Amino acid sequence: MGLVRVSGGELAPLIEGIVGRMPRPRVATLVAFRDHSGAPLDRGLALYFPAPHSYTGESVLELHGHGGPAVLRLVLARCIELGARLAEPGEFTKRAFLNGKLDLAQAESVADLIDAATATAARAAMKSLTGEFSRDVHNIVQQLIDLRMYTEAALDFPEEDIEFVHAHDVAGRVAALQAQLERVLARARTGALLREGLTIVLVGRPNVGKSSLLNALAQEDAAIVTPIAGTTRDAVERRVEIAGIPLTIVDTAGLRATLDAVEQVGITRTWSAVERADLVLLLVDARDTPDALPTEDQAILARIPEAIPRIIVHNKVDLTGGGPSAEARETAGSLRRHVWLSAKSGEGLALLEREVLGAVGTEGTTEDTYLARERHLVALRSAAANLAAASAQIALAQPPLELFAEELREAQSALATITGEFTADDLLGVIFGRFCIGK
Ligand code: GDP
Repeated sequence: MGLVRVSGGELAPLIEGIVGRMPRPRVATLVAFRDHSGAPLDRGLALYFPAPHSYTGESVLELHGHGGPAVLRLVLARCIELGARLAEPGEFTKRAFLNGKLDLAQAESVADLIDAATATAARAAMKSLTGEFSRDVHNIVQQLIDLRMYTEAALDFPEEDIEFVHAHDVAGRVAALQAQLERVLARARTGALLREGLTIVLVGRPNVGKSSLLNALAQEDAAIVTPIAGTTRDAVERRVEIAGIPLTIVDTAGLRATLDAVEQVGITRTWSAVERADLVLLLVDARDTPDALPTEDQAILARIPEAIPRIIVHNKVDLTGGGPSAEARETAGSLRRHVWLSAKSGEGLALLEREVLGAVGTEGTTEDTYLARERHLVALRSAAANLAAASAQIALAQPPLELFAEELREAQSALATITGEFTADDLLGVIFGRFCIGK
């Protein structure tokens, strides 16, 4: 089956040109699609959605034909002959946004739903599409508007501003907003992970068990996509899923000092993979104690760039007589995550998965997320920074109300960029709409 979709202000001439008559709105009608001489190009269903009750908010015609590139191209060419033009990527959704059918965050989630790599990501995209994310953001914006309204009013009566701050529990409201924003941010952060996925790189000396761990992780989860072939001295990539988060795990060439030219190429690639990683797993032998790792292990650890989170995985715990475990240990003033497991027997793998999710900033509750984008996170974080500043100001003995009002205003405009509302003048309307003049 093939589908040609046309959206526009006035479709009647086009519809009559290709279908010969106007089909009943929203009823699938069997018709012939005709060329300029009236000869049929294909037979199929015509569906007509008059404005504004359509996806784009304009009039929309759908022609469902038999498919096949040649006949579809003829139907398309006939539409163009009748005045249509090819749509730009995303243009239907863009028009839906411009006509107020969707807000910006919802429009973005249409693309995310289509691109979703995992079922969890698709469910999260649907949450954004149905407007759950937008509603939560909007709710915070609404409360910010209320708070600004009181603040602006207090600014007009400077002698009463301190009483105002206490009377309306302004500090309490700011704190509540901060907590609410933090919850939205946490859900969005996990959502961004679902969307983008993570690259985890396994490093370690030869024979510590990197390939075994990669296989074990891949077998744990049903969703293995194709292994990208490489030689044993090259990086091998696999796609796996942990708690619905798509992970690319790169198994790298064993790291050791070598004179072998081919092996050196592999090692150079390993380090460039490490530099692109979201998380590094350093595999060591569980028979070595964490405080006295062999110098090769320490050298690898020292070379992992500071900013990249890492977990030290003590493999082959089955050979030590101990069981699997996980702990954070203090090393050189910083907390480091350690996991003891066996790639061979599989014990401790679940612990590792939990630590991985923890190390990248989510506790694995991926069911309750919105499929957010980086720009949403940026906006949420910048609003959170404004609220933090506002909260500090309102705690002062003499709160600088003008600065406070400004922080609230900035928080609101940051959040408004998520849904694409433009709210610069809205506030005046709200203030005058709710206040009785003369009071
Ligand atoms: P790599 O060179 O780091 O990729 O290491 P491999 O995964 O090829 O493993 C090297 C050897 O260690 C193989 O003989 C594995 O069977 C063995 N090995 C890997 N993991 C474990 C483990 O958890 N326990 C035991 N006993 N042997 C393991």
